Amino acid sequence: MTVARILAEKGRSVVTVEPQRTLDEAIHLLAEKRIGAVVVSDVEGAVLGILSERDIMRALARQGAGALDALVSEHMTATVVTCARDTSVEDVMHLMTDGRFRHVPVLEEGRLAGLISIGDVVKRRIAAVEAEHQAMRDYITMA
Ligand code: AMP
Repeated sequence: MTVARILAEKGRSVVTVEPQRTLDEAIHLLAEKRIGAVVVSDVEGAVLGILSERDIMRALARQGAGALDALVSEHMTATVVTCARDTSVEDVMHLMTDGRFRHVPVLEEGRLAGLISIGDVVKRRIAAVEAEHQAMRDYITMA
């Protein structure tokens, strides 16, 4: 299964934030949208970074509540690992495991075309394993 199939089910919309916004604005966005990370992008939609709840937690641990006034650009990860629509779900799983992160933006011709989270990957893996088990059970009962 490819990333395109997941996007066909969940949609291509991605919550983004501009780099000059504050961490305070970012946490409100995360809470409102019930998500764990936002892609940092400029007005043209180019990906500049990613900011996850972990980045915010680290900033708070280091700087205390004053960190909420800091800019997103100061705490985001600027080197973002991305995938394409034709990347396999298995490859995305490896990217997440090797990089120790839970979000991978999808790019199409340099533009943001979706976001895959670890939740999306786990959901499809469970469905695939259950389908395999069912096929096995059907095979055994037929034999
Ligand atoms: P996460 O597990 O996605 O909440 O992120 C853990 C850490 O990895 C944070 O510092 C994020 O900024 C960073 N991160 C998240 N996703 C990516 C990605 N696709 N590429 C690079 N870094 C990322």
